[in-house]
Amino acid sequence: MKIAVIGLGVLGAGVARALALMGAEVTVFERAAAMAGTSGTTFAWTNSHNKNPRSYHDLNVAGLSEHAALARHPGAAPTWYVCNGNLEWAEDAPGAERLTASVAELVDREYPVRWITPQQAREFVPDLRLAAHIEHIAHYPTEGHVFPALLVSRLWGEARDHGARLRCPATVTGLSETARGVRIELSDGVAEADAVVIAAGRWTEALTASTGHRIPMADPDAAGTATVGLLGYTNPLPTRLDRVLTTPRLNVRPDGAGRLIVQGLDLDADADPASPPAVDGHHARELCGRLTGLLAGTEGARLESLRVGQRALPADGLTVAGFLGDNARIYTVATHSGITLGPLLGRLAAQELLTGDPEDLLADFRPERLIGRTELPTLRPARFAGQQ
Ligand SMILES: Cc1cc2nc3c(=O)[nH]c(=O)nc-3n(C[C@H](O)[C@H](O)[C@H](O)COP(=O)(O)OP(=O)(O)OC[C@H]3O[C@@H](n4cnc5c(N)ncnc54)[C@H](O)[C@@H]3O)c2cc1C
Repeated sequence: MKIAVIGLGVLGAGVARALALMGAEVTVFERAAAMAGTSGTTFAWTNSHNKNPRSYHDLNVAGLSEHAALARHPGAAPTWYVCNGNLEWAEDAPGAERLTASVAELVDREYPVRWITPQQAREFVPDLRLAAHIEHIAHYPTEGHVFPALLVSRLWGEARDHGARLRCPATVTGLSETARGVRIELSDGVAEADAVVIAAGRWTEALTASTGHRIPMADPDAAGTATVGLLGYTNPLPTRLDRVLTTPRLNVRPDGAGRLIVQGLDLDADADPASPPAVDGHHARELCGRLTGLLAGTEGARLESLRVGQRALPADGLTVAGFLGDNARIYTVATHSGITLGPLLGRLAAQELLTGDPEDLLADFRPERLIGRTELPTLRPARFAGQQ
């Protein structure tokens, strides 16, 4: 079966890999470059925090298991995945109340989390600076972080090993079903396939509209909304950090070779893709100041880049995975938390495409719930939703 995948972010790479492993003849059409979209600017923490409803939580938990299984895959050291856990705490009474409720909900869902002391936290992160009044830290041992380029290289490399091909640059401008399959209109020609997977991230709305089944996405260009987020990339720093910290004023994770990625969710209110802040301006200084307050060894830190990430958010905030229309030829997969979910969604989508059997885990995430809808909720920015 000849299958075209549109987009080479983490989702496109995951789908292409799974399809190729199952024997499909795969061609990926990518407009700009691998990771040219959201997968190139992401915090990349693997987790299932504040993911509701329950089925969305379960999907994310399955996403964590999929990463662990992929990391165990023979013959490939997991250079792309660090599963060393996450530490989280609150600094004031309202924050402590929110965290306690969140932990209680996760315990109720049998998600691995436990309270630890500051001393135990320093055994994990020796350079941690904690205010004296913080007594309880939530430790999530099954969470981790991903180096996105290495994850895509892991997925796309295996797809290539099994015959997948890339057409890049290749911009898909429209899709239509024909008697034999799907006609793919490109900016410079036409191609055909038996089936197509749209894995175009925040550009999903435009491509699905061309099929007559428009899936509304939250506007990825809207400054200060749920879709945009600032990420700072530091210079190499002599601090000991091997895991994710999600703290009241700063989220931080290692980014390889001593570099860190830092994120202050309250600063996202100023994030505007049309006008990214200066790498040495107020936001950068604020992020670096918060970092020094959090970790010894980061004095004098500077940012090498400060980027505005643009989330791929289906308009109700939940994953979309399934066929558009009744003919089972055009499949769409789009989601936030695509780093956590990419390998899993890739496998599930490939199985649905090639076997026709619906996957239970995807039952609540079908495109029909959104197609044609115009009145949609306003999504809460990550700083209020507590979700990444
Ligand atoms: C600030 C921020 C923090 C985040 N933190 C986390 C986190 O901690 N954990 C987590 O799990 N997720 C996180 N995410 C979300 C995650 O990064 C995304 O969900 C994921 O990267 C989306 O991948 P994708 O493959 O769907 O889209 P993309 O990476 O955007 O890939 C889509 C590709 O399609 C191509 N394309 C689009 N249209 C066309 C066309 N017409 N023709 C050809 N090619 C086309 C694009 O060029 C692009 O390369 C975060 C996102 C942001 C912005």
